[in-house]
Amino acid sequence: MTQSQLQLDLVPLSEWLPSKWKKPVIAGPCGAESEDQILDTARQLAKQGHVSLFRAGVWKPRTRPGAFEGNGETALKWLTAMRNETGLPFTVEVANTEHAELALKYKTDVLWIGARTTVNPFSVQEIAEALKGTDVPVLVKNPVHADLQLWMGALERFNRAGIRKLGAIHRGFHTGVKTQYRNQPLWENAIALKSSCKELPVFCDPSHICGRRDMIASVAQKALDLNMDGLMIEVHRDPATALSDAAQQLTPRLFEELLMKLVVRDQSTNDSDFSEQLNSLRQVIDAIDDEIIQALAHRMEVIRKIGAHKREHGITILQLDRWLEILQTRVAAGESLGLDKELVTELCQLLHKSSIRKQTSVMNENRSSDQ
Ligand code: PEP
Ligand code: MN
Repeated sequence: MTQSQLQLDLVPLSEWLPSKWKKPVIAGPCGAESEDQILDTARQLAKQGHVSLFRAGVWKPRTRPGAFEGNGETALKWLTAMRNETGLPFTVEVANTEHAELALKYKTDVLWIGARTTVNPFSVQEIAEALKGTDVPVLVKNPVHADLQLWMGALERFNRAGIRKLGAIHRGFHTGVKTQYRNQPLWENAIALKSSCKELPVFCDPSHICGRRDMIASVAQKALDLNMDGLMIEVHRDPATALSDAAQQLTPRLFEELLMKLVVRDQSTNDSDFSEQLNSLRQVIDAIDDEIIQALAHRMEVIRKIGAHKREHGITILQLDRWLEILQTRVAAGESLGLDKELVTELCQLLHKSSIRKQTSVMNENRSSDQ
């Protein structure tokens, strides 16, 4: 899929979500279960002083009916009391117009759009319309499945409705492949989104990526190493009793320990030795890439000749045995040099695809000149 650019008119993140840690951190329980649970969790987080925004779902999207579906407007009252007492601003998920209106009524500081809503342009458009004329910040989680355009589209809909305080949240994707993650992190999508609009803040939600607390640290660290702009982490005063997402929530104490362990690396440095060495290594990369491009052009030229040769002799483009032999020998050669099997396989598949495309066009060229 060709990647289109995302043109958004944005207010910088630092103007609406100042950092209280090394990057802005959003934390709080999956769901608002009781006033006491909200207050107790928020008091502990406020005391630690690292959290920029308190999160709690008041309408919970559940796969099957009958599970805990949130406390709605009542929970917004608890969150208002929490904010009055602790000074912590709060964010809730909104999934329809009614949610959006109620969230605005309680002056919710930031709204977030859940993964199950981002997939639906009708719902996103309706919520965006309901927010017109306000300047409430909105964070858009990635859609459940890996459709980058859908994620971009949702951000555009809010921006066109006048929402300029916008961010995205990478919470992992349902890929249909069983992995150790609840939702597989596809970092390339978060990077592609950021590359299509450099000013767009992209958060990472390691809680929903992992689905279990023991993996959260490594995913959060990876997000920071990829220079994501902030984190959203589920924190519950007593995760074992949580009414939703019990396995992935951290206690306030574990949350603080996690933040202490995470390393936030610099994006650049004034250290001239480091820069010199990096630059000389980059020159080597530039030269290697140049060789690769030259070799690819040469390979394509030979492919064209092969296509013409097959055409002249009435031979099919696809030669299954040859393709299987290429795949097997290249993967083996790569492995003997310590290259990842996956890398070489994907590269061969890409080359084979473009080779077939090239030979097809050679066949068609000859066919049209025959007529
Ligand atoms: C949540 O944040 O609790 C939630 C339901 O998230 P997601 O939309 O990422 O599943
Ligand atoms: Mn949750």
